[in-house]
Amino acid sequence: MELSDEQRALQSTVREFAEAEIAPHAAAWDRNGTFPAQTVRKLGDLGIMGLPFPEQYGGLGAGALSFAVAVEELTRVDSSVAITVAASVSLGGTPILAFGTEEQKQRWLVPLARGETIGAFASTEPGMGSDVQGAETTARQEQDGWVLNGTKAYITNAGTELSSFVTTTAITGQRDDGRSELSTFIVPVGAPGFVPQKPYHKMGWHASDTRELSYQDCRVGTDALLGERGGGARVFLSTLDGGRIGVAAMGVGLAQGCLDQSVAWANQRCAFGQPIARYQAVSFELASLQAQISAARSLVYRAAALRDAQQRHTQEAAEAKLIASELAVHAANVAMQVHGGFGYIEESPIPRFYRDAKILTIGEGTSEILKLVIARNMGLSV
Ligand SMILES: Cc1cc2nc3c(=O)[nH]c(=O)nc-3n(C[C@H](O)[C@H](O)[C@H](O)COP(=O)(O)OP(=O)(O)OC[C@H]3O[C@@H](n4cnc5c(N)ncnc54)[C@H](O)[C@@H]3O)c2cc1C
Repeated sequence: MELSDEQRALQSTVREFAEAEIAPHAAAWDRNGTFPAQTVRKLGDLGIMGLPFPEQYGGLGAGALSFAVAVEELTRVDSSVAITVAASVSLGGTPILAFGTEEQKQRWLVPLARGETIGAFASTEPGMGSDVQGAETTARQEQDGWVLNGTKAYITNAGTELSSFVTTTAITGQRDDGRSELSTFIVPVGAPGFVPQKPYHKMGWHASDTRELSYQDCRVGTDALLGERGGGARVFLSTLDGGRIGVAAMGVGLAQGCLDQSVAWANQRCAFGQPIARYQAVSFELASLQAQISAARSLVYRAAALRDAQQRHTQEAAEAKLIASELAVHAANVAMQVHGGFGYIEESPIPRFYRDAKILTIGEGTSEILKLVIARNMGLSV
């Protein structure tokens, strides 16, 4: 699938921005756990923070494929910035775009698209991630709104100086079939009883904000309900379809970053009197990686194009994420091997890529859950 001229121009713009504004700082942000708020604002100026949103909500109306291209380019240089953008747009903003009222869209999406704020999505809890039916966070209806109680775990983007809302799933009752009735709420950061905890010490994504959230009799208005009461599972599944394309684009970008670093290194590093690229054990490994990246990128583009055409893309998004995230882990491993000892030293970007890769096979659906989605779509009775 070929990109349009506009998408190619966007790709170049984001690549130049990433090389000039992110690459020189990525190692220090990673080392110090610095959230790059200023970079997010600049990405807002470029239109990236609202790229797929319609113009009336501050976006560029560019669609999912363009967004995937931008996310890939960011991840090629730095995953922390990329996940901040991907989570804000795909997890924070997109459910509001898909299910929100006009008032909710104007209130939450416009500043988000400008890069003045970022959004978050909170589903996971200490006791469950994959199994949404295992949620324990509740929302009780009162006369003037809702009262939330519970804990969410591993939530991206919820505690930074730019964080403005956390789209939160909660149980609002029991359905006739005995299952939990799940609903979704837009919880403003700063709402009474909303208590972000300290950030986690993570293996990677050091410059991205991830923390636990407590809802302690957290009061929100009636206008906080996103979509209809009981529609939480629909919001969750539709959000994940888009989010998985973003994570898949991150997988391709991280793999491409590893490959680009490795090609440059292989051509300049000499062993036994010649560049290591002359050894087929090295260059065939990189050639193979190139082919796998092209294949994974095609899966991402296909899923994004289907989303843009408003066609079903659950299976395609799952396939793209499964393949691209596993490829990212493989690519980081190859890059470290090709770099030899230098690949293990934090002066090179390879350890950062290596640490940042693994989460892609876990967040927004583990590889096993994606296989479950694909198997069920194939008609297998798993
Ligand atoms: C850095 C980071 C950022 C995150 N950001 C967010 C966020 O912004 N919002 C959010 O809501 N969550 C977020 N998460 C949570 C993430 O989405 C979950 O960790 C993930 O969905 C897996 O859930 P879990 O950790 O509970 O694992 P579990 O569901 O407990 O799974 C544990 C293992 O069991 C396997 N397993 C579970 N069920 C099955 C099954 N039926 N068949 C086969 N294998 C199965 C899984 O594949 C996995 O290998 C984040 C996590 C991290 C680490």
